Amino acid sequence: MNINKKAIIYLLLVFTVLSGALMLAKLTDSTVVNSDLQETPIRQIAEYSTTGNLIEFEKIYALNKVAENEQLSKDLQETFELERKKNVHYVQYQGPIEHLFFHPLIAFPELAFDNDYMTKGYDDYFVTVSEFTKIIEALYKNNYILVNIQDIYDPQLIDGNLMIRQKELFLPEGKKPLILSIDDLNYYEYMRENGNVYKLILDPYNRIATYAISPTGEEVISRTNEIIPLLDDFVNAHEDFSFQGAKGIIALTGYEGILGYRTNELGSPNYSDDKEAALKVVNRLKETGWTFASHGYGHLDVKKISYNLLVKDTKRWQAEVGSLIGETDVYIYPFGSSVLPPSEKFNYLVETGFPVLCSVGPNPYLQLTEDYLMMDRRHIDGIALKTQRERLLSLFDSLEIIDPIRP
Ligand SMILES: [Zn+2]
Repeated sequence: MNINKKAIIYLLLVFTVLSGALMLAKLTDSTVVNSDLQETPIRQIAEYSTTGNLIEFEKIYALNKVAENEQLSKDLQETFELERKKNVHYVQYQGPIEHLFFHPLIAFPELAFDNDYMTKGYDDYFVTVSEFTKIIEALYKNNYILVNIQDIYDPQLIDGNLMIRQKELFLPEGKKPLILSIDDLNYYEYMRENGNVYKLILDPYNRIATYAISPTGEEVISRTNEIIPLLDDFVNAHEDFSFQGAKGIIALTGYEGILGYRTNELGSPNYSDDKEAALKVVNRLKETGWTFASHGYGHLDVKKISYNLLVKDTKRWQAEVGSLIGETDVYIYPFGSSVLPPSEKFNYLVETGFPVLCSVGPNPYLQLTEDYLMMDRRHIDGIALKTQRERLLSLFDSLEIIDPIRP
């Protein structure tokens, strides 16, 4: 090829690129152009709103370049478009963040309160279906809104190190954030014998339901005797009780499997069926706003056990439970028994992938550094309902909640 031909091709190329750029410039609003971002989605949003959610949107958007996160930005756009239509005004929330936790619900009080050696434990640490239903109604009436724990922090990899940053939370005006978690949603053998259901399943409509054998020996499939289906339905009926579809955190151990499936029995002939069934439920839970946390493998007391046992327990959890529920960076201490920085055990949990650590405490507590987030949760159970009325009044009045069926 001679020099002239080369020059002509080069000029043609330059022309094509330039005219493309010119066309693009015409299509976009020159005031918003930022070469790192695709302008269109931000511009569309900018027309809709100048309130907090725009700022939040742009931040998330800028952090997550369009190419990798097309789905995220699409979901956000849809959310904000919906909110715009409903004319919801967003403001930054800066007050305390409530985090409440429950155990699986008492579905059969006649088994829980049958005066056997477990009755006191069930009276102390569990709530009934009617209590949970009333609590949710009161929280809604008192302007709480469910948020994901991930809505309050932002993990970022900076120079290969994981850094935690507080995320600004913009909520519909007047709403107060509420994080909810459920501990031990494993349906241990003792739970089945004492009035909890047997497992979570999918109903014919692909909704989460429960399966149990009633005290009279009948199979019961229900959507009204456990937190998950009750909350799914409540949020369906009251969309403004959930921020962007948030539901709650499911904290799982592994020593008797998960969600009622004995996925700990690796050598069992039922293992692959159980695993498959559990995975279907896990995936549906994730699709419907639920997230997961580690509650240790063997429900051991992290404060008391040795460092080596904590390592072994955590590795086993990751292999048997983490492999089913996928990534999570949240650790919920069994017994609320926490270890503190800079202890070796604390550092291990953070470094092994759990920079978000939740304990139990009487009031909202949140500490966030660039390495970790520590949060307390209030226990909502028989003890709390019976002895902490004053402290809980901003959430609900336990006098109106307590089930007369308790012993
Ligand atoms: Zn527990």
